[in-house]
Formats: sequence, C-alpha cells, structure tokens
Amino acid sequence: MGFWILGHECGHNAFSEYRWIDDAIDLFIHSVTLTPYFTFKYSHRNHHAHTNSLELDEVYIPKRKSDTFFSEFMNNGPGNVFILIIRVTLGHPLYMIFNTLGIFNDRERELHHVVLSDVGIIAVLYAFYHLFVTEGVKMAAFLYGIPLFAFSCIFIIVTYLNHTHPSVPHFDSTEWNWIRGALSTIDRDYGKLMNWAFHNSNQNHVIHHLFPMPPHYHAFEATEAIKPIIGDYYKYDDTLILKAMWRDMMECIYVEPDESSENKGVYWYFK
Ligand SMILES: [Zn+2]
Repeated sequence: MGFWILGHECGHNAFSEYRWIDDAIDLFIHSVTLTPYFTFKYSHRNHHAHTNSLELDEVYIPKRKSDTFFSEFMNNGPGNVFILIIRVTLGHPLYMIFNTLGIFNDRERELHHVVLSDVGIIAVLYAFYHLFVTEGVKMAAFLYGIPLFAFSCIFIIVTYLNHTHPSVPHFDSTEWNWIRGALSTIDRDYGKLMNWAFHNSNQNHVIHHLFPMPPHYHAFEATEAIKPIIGDYYKYDDTLILKAMWRDMMECIYVEPDESSENKGVYWYFK
C-alpha cells in the first residue's frame, strides 16, 4: 500500500518535476499492483474534480434510502457484515474493472496511453505466470497472490475511511461545488506503524484534496498551515483502523437530504 501511495503521488505529478519520470515510475508501480495506470489516472482526476458529488464522483457514492436493498433488506447485522466483507475483498477489483474500463471512450484518453497501460498489466501477468510455472502455486501465492489480495483489501479500507464518516456530507448538483467537495474528506490517525506504512497519507487527505501537488513528506506542514484557515471545516478522527471501518460502515448505510437545508441538496448519512 505504501508503494502504491508513491505511485498515486506520481499520478498527481507530485513526485518529480519531470512528468515523464512520474509517468515511468507510476506505470511500473500501478502495473505491479494490476492497476491500468493511465486509465486510473484519468478516473482519479475525475474523483478529485467532483469529490462528494452524488452525480459525478467516481468512488464511494452513497446509497439512497429509496434503494431498499441496502437501506432495508441488508440493513441488519448479517447483511452489514456481508456488505463489509464484499466491499473489502472485491471493492478494488470491481472498481478497476468497471470504473477504469468505463473511461476508455472519452476523446481525452489517448490510444497510446491505453496501450501502455495494458502492456504494463500484461507484462506483470506474464511474470506471474512464469513464477507460477517455474516455482509452483504455493510460491506464486506467497510472493504475489496473497500480498496483492492484502493490498487490495487495505486499499479499500484506507480510501473508504478518508471519504466516509458520519460528519461528512454529500451534495447534489444544486449545492455541490469543488471546495465543498474537497472539504468533505477526513484525516485519520491509525497509530505510528500504520501511519508510517501509508506514508502518512491517511493523516493528510484533506490537504491532498485541496492541494494535490505537495509531496507526502511536506504534507504535514501543509496540513498544519491550512488548519487555522479552514477551522471547523477540518475533519479528523483517530479511531483505530479496523474499529473505524466497522463503526463507520455501520453508521453510514445511506444518505438523505438535510431537511433544514434550503434546497435540500446537502445529504447526510443515516443508518
Ligand atoms: Zn489523489
């Protein structure tokens, strides 16, 4: 996950002053984690451009009460546990398949970027196949399969928690604007070891949405600088990672409009 976070930084051109260096490193890192690099980059750019917009954001778009499968049928102990397991284990592969495949059509997506992304993925799959044939299934699983699955689960937990919390609103097009979306993210503290493993990105996600360019090793300074300016809009929670995942998944089942908001375009979580 820490390795992937460095790749994410390259995707924002925050790693080097030279775009080709960022692209080369990121193509490698994303391919190793079976993420189609350029397509993820465009999808992620869209997430930054439309954060917490109910209509246009890419990830963690909440369910509505009218979606009774989630708000009623699955809204009980066993249902919540089932959704938690499916989200953590399959969330990342499903996002990669549907969100990144869905963006191939846009005129902006250049063919050579799509081809390069695919070449990266195919090269890694071929290396995995080679490992499987020469070293056997056990070695291939321990060296690549299990670490990749663990990464995939941790990726969902970390990104979900930076974007989901009972205090975080969503907006429809009548109330959404970029700054409201960027401020509807939350910083998390998981303790020294986890923070270190994630390059402290979990502690600096609000600043990442306001200013994605500073590299991770300057993010703390930037967060401290922005806190007095945004005041109460700064959101922070230091609940331990697994407890936070459990609690917030139980608290944040679906969203409904804020009755006190003038044109009902602000949405809060209910359970
Ligand atoms: Zn980002």
